[in-house]
Formats: sequence, structure tokens, C-alpha cells
Amino acid sequence: MGLVLDVEGLYVTYHTPDGDIPAVRDLSFGLNEGEILGIVGESGSGKSTLALALAGLLPRNAYVGAKKIVILNSNIDAASLRKALEDLRGVGIFMVFQDPFSSLNPLIRIREQLAEAYITRVKRTKGIRMSINDVDDGELINYLKRVNIPDPEVTLYRYPHQLSGGQIQRVMIAMALILEPRILIADEPTTALDVITQIQVLHELKKLVDDIRTSIIFITHDIALASTISDRLAVMYGGYFMEVGNTLDVLKEPLHPYTMGLVTSIPSKRKHEGYLPEIKGVYVPTKSKGCPFWPRCPYTKEACMKEVPELKEVKGRLVRCFMYE
Ligand code: ATP
Ligand code: MG
Repeated sequence: MGLVLDVEGLYVTYHTPDGDIPAVRDLSFGLNEGEILGIVGESGSGKSTLALALAGLLPRNAYVGAKKIVILNSNIDAASLRKALEDLRGVGIFMVFQDPFSSLNPLIRIREQLAEAYITRVKRTKGIRMSINDVDDGELINYLKRVNIPDPEVTLYRYPHQLSGGQIQRVMIAMALILEPRILIADEPTTALDVITQIQVLHELKKLVDDIRTSIIFITHDIALASTISDRLAVMYGGYFMEVGNTLDVLKEPLHPYTMGLVTSIPSKRKHEGYLPEIKGVYVPTKSKGCPFWPRCPYTKEACMKEVPELKEVKGRLVRCFMYE
């Protein structure tokens, strides 16, 4: 199983009139073919920024850099990282956005947008050029059915503004299923969906992995949801990966204090596990040099306030915490 993504020392900083915001800091990770990597973390931890960076879609005020990025065997030149990532779009990376309304072209019917995706896939996988009119409605409707769209025949001919947020989110997932991307970056892809549809969507994503070995980065604030689908979990806080490991290991024995708090928040876990601290409060970016989590951490010591611990291997996992030094 090869790596489809190999990232070392990725950072993204937003320039704003009030100063710089380091949104993603020193991230290193690999993504295997056919693997689902869950990225969890609370609001503002940098999840969407990471997704946008990898999809080459960062806004203009974002500055991005890395020691190394290899995507689908292309070595990306760090000096022209933004441009290189932008160029990589369309060769097999697809992103489902957190904000459904930003994802579809408002002036074009759903049918044409899905048909475009279909044409793109056929060209990529079979080398055949098709026109929009060659694409069979029935084929597209099948995809809409797979993501539980009510009245798929009608929805197919709608414009995006005629759909609800949840319906657009489903259309985006359908588009991902049609495109069969090599790498799918899904940013909170099911937040606007009811539970039944959410389960169905997760099932379809899993099928994409099983059938065509797509690799998925599944982003959510919900560790319970991430755990149901991910092979590995990366826990993000204040722009850093705090813990990266096998999903089952992380749930069974979270090592970073922040992960402990997240795991305690899973209702079914609360009953079974021994004492794990609950984490109160919210992340507030500070100018301090230390670990971003120290103001909320039950185990804070002197060193935590002075510098950021490195991401180190602990029990077959990666953890960024002085507790394990
Ligand atoms: P959420 O769960 O709310 O979606 P997130 O983990 O996706 O949060 P990001 O959207 O990546 O977080 O934001 C990370 C940090 O970067 C936050 O402090 C946010 O305010 C800041 N940020 C995000 N986008 C911009 C932007 N375009 N300009 C300036 N700062 C930004
Ligand atoms: Mg986000």
C-alpha cells in the first residue's frame, strides 16, 4: 500500500489587519492508499485551513509553506507550493466543503454539474471524451439515490438555490462518488444531514474506499462520528496535530490530555472507561510560546508554558505532550 500524500512541516498563516494568525503549524503526516484519516478538533483548530491548503484553495491572505509535500507521487516544490497545489486540482483530488453553498455554481443546474463530473471521470479513467448530452440522466439519478436525495428526478433539474443546505451537501457527496477521486477531502461533509442519511453517506464513502481505493481525509469536530469511519485519527488543537494514531488505540487509551477530554465526551465511552478528565472552556489563541493547550490542561507544568512539545512516538502513536518526555 503506497502513500498518496506525504506531508512534512506544513504551515499556514493568515495575514490580517490585526496581525498574523498561525492556523496550521508544523503538520507532518502520510495518507495511505485506501485509508480514511479522520481529523478531529474543535472550532478554530485549523481543520478547514488544512483541507483548503491540500486542495489548493486557500484565500489570498493565507501564506503556506512546507518542508516537503508529495501528492500522488508528484513532489511539490515548496517555493511554489500554492501554485503547485492549485495545479494539482482536477488530477484526482476532490474536496467537499464545510459550507455547502460555496461548493456549487449557482447559475448551473445540478444535472450539468454532475454531468461535468461524470465526463471528467470517464476522460480520466477511460480516456474517452463525452459531451454533456451524452450523459444518461438515469445514471446520474442513481448517484442521487445513493445519497438519499428525495425526488432525484426533480432535483436533477434544479438550480443550487432551490435546494436546502442538506440537499446540496448530498449533491456534493454524489459528485464525489461520480468523480471517484484518488484523494477525497471531506470537510464536515455530513453536518447538515439527518442521522439516517449520515449513516448512508458514511456507508457510500466507505464503498468508495473498498471499490476503488480512494483515500479520504474526513474532517469533523465530532470524534464519535470520525471514529465510526476512520482507520486513523489525528487530533488537532491550535493548529497542531496533538495525537495521531490508530482509531481503536486512540479511543481505548487516549494519550494526549486533550484527546482524553474528547474521548470522555463520547456518551458510550463515559460509562465504560475509568477516570479521564473532562475539558472545559474553549480554545483562545494566545501569544505565548508554549503548548496551545496549556491554559486548559489539567496536567500543565512549567515547561508547557515555555515551549511547544515535539510530536513524538509514544506507544506506537504520535503525541505532542511533555507528559511523555
Ligand atoms: P470550524 O470547526 O469552526 O470549521 P476549523 O477547525 O475549520 O473550525 P479554520 O477555519 O481552519 O478552523 O480556522 C483556523 C483559524 O484561522 C481560526 O483562528 C480562524 O479564525 C482563522 N481563519 C480562518 N480563515 C481565515 C481567513 N480567511 N482569514 C483570517 N483568518 C482566518
Ligand atoms: Mg472548518
